[in-house]
Amino acid sequence: MVDTEKYFNRSYAQSRNEFRKHLSTIKEKWPSAELFTQSIGKEEDNTIDIIYSEANSSNKQVLFFTTGEHGIEGYAGAAVVHLFVEEYLDQVDPQSTGICFVHAINPWGMKNLRRVTENNVDLNRNYFFEQGTVPETVNQYYAKESEIFQPNGVVKDIKKEKTALYEQLSKGMMNEGHSGIKTAKGMGQFEFERGVYYGGSEEEESTKHMKEWQHKILTTYSRVIHMDWHTALGPTNEVTMVMSEHDEREEEELKAQYGMNNIKKFTPKNVKGDSTNYFHKLKKEVSPDTKLFSALFEFGTFGADKKAELRELTTIILENQLYWEGAVHEEDRQWILEEFNNMFYPDEEAWREAVLKEARLAITSVLKEEGLLLPA
Ligand SMILES: [Zn+2]
Repeated sequence: MVDTEKYFNRSYAQSRNEFRKHLSTIKEKWPSAELFTQSIGKEEDNTIDIIYSEANSSNKQVLFFTTGEHGIEGYAGAAVVHLFVEEYLDQVDPQSTGICFVHAINPWGMKNLRRVTENNVDLNRNYFFEQGTVPETVNQYYAKESEIFQPNGVVKDIKKEKTALYEQLSKGMMNEGHSGIKTAKGMGQFEFERGVYYGGSEEEESTKHMKEWQHKILTTYSRVIHMDWHTALGPTNEVTMVMSEHDEREEEELKAQYGMNNIKKFTPKNVKGDSTNYFHKLKKEVSPDTKLFSALFEFGTFGADKKAELRELTTIILENQLYWEGAVHEEDRQWILEEFNNMFYPDEEAWREAVLKEARLAITSVLKEEGLLLPA
């Protein structure tokens, strides 16, 4: 029996409190470790918290964990940091390895159980290299289907609306190659500020702050190992490692090398404004000699088939509609919120145990392959 209670918190405040407590444990090995807090957004007490220390003697490499880029997904991320502090601190060399653990890149979203920021922005579509460089082609797909991903009135009858959405989405998905909603999911959309997958019209405070840390990290170390923790995508109760094409290795090669079953690569052609590609571009600009390993890790919930994809899109769209327009019936409201939680932070023991188990698999694989694990 695993006691998952202590890893998975119920509120943002509680999660942050637990995170801050890791500092004293970390200081036993990295005496100069410090907690940095940065308040984000309109509410004073929403903060990005970072525990950071350079290596004790030489800054050969750094282990960089980021969590909560998508608000609600941060609870699982915080669990992973907790697990790492308990089980892995003794397995890396503090003399040559710095550490940087980030709690809640999107604190408002984490607090309010949303993926997006208080400005409705998906932070992983908000990292542009130059401001005002939203790609020109990015909105062209949406005109036709824009009514699907913008809220269109109060939720009146969840059963009817769900069925209608399923129909509309399946039609769209069969539409020669691309559908607006699927394109929006990857590329973000930059036109409808109350719509889903909105990438924002300007840089979010969280983005600005994290860019500064990315810069600091790239220019301090010869090697960066970055693990960015997320939830929802990929096979149920399994971890999927998602890498950008900046890494030249093929998926099959990566699977063999890291000993992981689920590895996906994405091309910047289909994804805009994401933090991983920004990190790679920034590296080229400010510190080309630094070696950068940067990947997203997703703990799957609904699954990876077509049915799961429909359920995901429906959930995202209904939750957004509920947020902006509300629901006539309380039970419809509850249903949508529960489904949203099922997707990003399930209250299920089996899933939580899987997160811990799969996190160990991912951490051990990456640390081993990157040569960070001390011999046992
Ligand atoms: Zn995510």
